[in-house]
Amino acid sequence: MKLEAHTSHKKKKRFGVESSLLPSKFKESDLKKIYRTLLEEFGPQKWWPAETRFEVIVGALLTQQTKWNNVEKAICNLKRAEVLEPHGLVKIDMSSLEEMIRCCRFYRQKASRLKNIAQFLIERDIDELFKLPVDQLRTTLLALNGVGNETADSIILYAADKPKFVIDAYTTRIMGCMGVEGNYEELQRLFENTLSKDVNTFKEYHALIVEYAKSYCGKKLCKECILINGHRKGTIHGQKQI
Ligand code: SF4
Repeated sequence: MKLEAHTSHKKKKRFGVESSLLPSKFKESDLKKIYRTLLEEFGPQKWWPAETRFEVIVGALLTQQTKWNNVEKAICNLKRAEVLEPHGLVKIDMSSLEEMIRCCRFYRQKASRLKNIAQFLIERDIDELFKLPVDQLRTTLLALNGVGNETADSIILYAADKPKFVIDAYTTRIMGCMGVEGNYEELQRLFENTLSKDVNTFKEYHALIVEYAKSYCGKKLCKECILINGHRKGTIHGQKQI
């Protein structure tokens, strides 16, 4: 069920999104049911694994296009060198920083971005920054080099503790299996308009999706999929299982 380009403003909406985005039998309770299923399977994830808000921001930038265990190694290197704070990252020379985060892909680009964001957070106090309304904070973050939707929303949710649902490739894939297809904003609107805007629920839900995708989707355990098979044998809402 592919979302088509919309030319009319009169198209029917459900849950704040175009009806054509959703399978006809999609219900508000489906997203809640998925959440309960994941929570029962894995338990609370208590994300984000970080000691400070700045560490969340650094982790969100480093995790782009790399596995989390690489990020952990890089964070560990930064902590050992005592530079995991804005002034430390600004002062450290670029080649040393690159070496510390070399285990993450695109480390040169990321080192430069880390320095930029550290400088930004020195000029713009993090407490003041995070007091901004969500939309304004998002716009501010998106204007930074290397910060896209997913990184900005991860920072808003896990560092600023504000309700913004994070959509990643895993979420897109799993929703696709449910017959729900849409771009970043469309899927985000669906989650935000369907669930109650609770920061902890948004945090847990995203973390559980990542855990599920790593444990099932990534291992191609589709025959044992508890999201699809847990709803209806082989299919949900009449959509074909992949
Ligand atoms: S396990 Fe397979 S069927 Fe289930 S959500 Fe993941 S990719 Fe889709």
